Amino acid sequence: MSEKLLVRKIRDGTVIDHIPAGSALDVLKVLGVTGKEGFRISIVMNTDSMKLGKKDIIKIEGRELNLEEVNIIALIAPTATINIIRGYRVVKKEKVEIPDYIEDIVKCANPNCVTNLEKGLKTRFKVVSRRPLLLKCLYCDRYTTLEDIYRQFIRREPAK
Ligand SMILES: [Zn+2]
Repeated sequence: MSEKLLVRKIRDGTVIDHIPAGSALDVLKVLGVTGKEGFRISIVMNTDSMKLGKKDIIKIEGRELNLEEVNIIALIAPTATINIIRGYRVVKKEKVEIPDYIEDIVKCANPNCVTNLEKGLKTRFKVVSRRPLLLKCLYCDRYTTLEDIYRQFIRREPAK
């Protein structure tokens, strides 16, 4: 069955393509999308991909992801591409990339870090390694790993 038959075209919104197979639900968790927001969301999992063999796709109607959200997807779905759709047309297509700095979304793994103790203080990390993922807190110098991020958002360990 072709992809077009599986998921209909959307008029406005975001298509996240080339998600590693089986990770679409994790991506939604990291995005904070629960389905209760009222957006129409289509998820295709384990569909054929020329590039990846198998892949997942998420289509979110009526919502355009911002740059911060795109960056956070890169942490757990590094192969993902983001397509912004307006009027049935792709107006922006980007491959996600782990940025040099990550702000606000990820929590510091150090429970005594000032960012965990003081309300309203945003976290700030320098990305010191992408594979394996290693973020260094600019407040307490402690490292936050991919496992910490999975524990924070997905509440289980990443697949090895
Ligand atoms: Zn910290």
